[in-house]
Amino acid sequence: MLQNIRVVLVNTSHPGNIGGAARAMKNMGLSRLVLVEPEDFPSDEAVARASGAVDVLDGAQVVGSLEEALVGCSVVLGTSARDRRIPWPLLDPRECATTTLQHVESGGEVALVFGREYAGLTNEELQRCQFHVHIPSNPDFSSLNLATAVQVLAYEVRMAWLAAQGQPTKMHKLEGASALNAELVTADELEKYYGHLESTLVGIGFLDPQNPRHLMSRLRRLYGRSNISRLEMNILRGILTETQKVVRGESHKRREDDV
Ligand code: SAH
Repeated sequence: MLQNIRVVLVNTSHPGNIGGAARAMKNMGLSRLVLVEPEDFPSDEAVARASGAVDVLDGAQVVGSLEEALVGCSVVLGTSARDRRIPWPLLDPRECATTTLQHVESGGEVALVFGREYAGLTNEELQRCQFHVHIPSNPDFSSLNLATAVQVLAYEVRMAWLAAQGQPTKMHKLEGASALNAELVTADELEKYYGHLESTLVGIGFLDPQNPRHLMSRLRRLYGRSNISRLEMNILRGILTETQKVVRGESHKRREDDV
């Protein structure tokens, strides 16, 4: 599906930007790069800036006109750093990604067109695009580096694609560093904890069993708000156990490393 999305760079002057765009594309799973009359390509600088994305550079199609670059595309989206004052359907990068995905999902080919570093796309080129896309940058400093602009759009396409695939956008490893940490305690475990807490508080003289007031219910309310995990409960249980040992006059050692 993503192979039906082409990134078209028009008249790029700096080969480093072509490399940077290739890298941004590969990072986001895009592979089809079309270069309209690049000033300096192939080039070592492009290879250097592409990092490991030389396959995208090697596969880049070099053409002589925008018309040629757009052959077979059912939707063309042209990016612009400025408001050109031509009334035209304007999308932000997220809407651009949604439109792109809708078309490739139904088998169409889509082009995302980027302009020259010094002058962007001409009005004539922009009029070949059904939609214009503007990254909502600082109006006083609106022009992004070409490869950076490619990165922003490619990222939004990836997010839309992941959502369409039902794939997660977060890394599992980071999300639940350990299953124990993510697992919430059960009501019966919490009851055991409250029992342990109560006897410890009595043991250290903080809770008077003859006059308990509302201490335990207030503590229950506090813990009830905290969505406590099994790992956290084990830490608290460890602290209570050590506290009880101190009260009983037994020697104790630091347990932080054990939990
Ligand atoms: N001086 C040019 C800036 C070109 S920047 C001008 O004023 O138009 C090079 C290319 O990066 C642009 O043609 C466009 O494709 C892309 N780009 C840079 N900033 C952008 C933005 N804010 N929104 C959309 N595309 C942007």
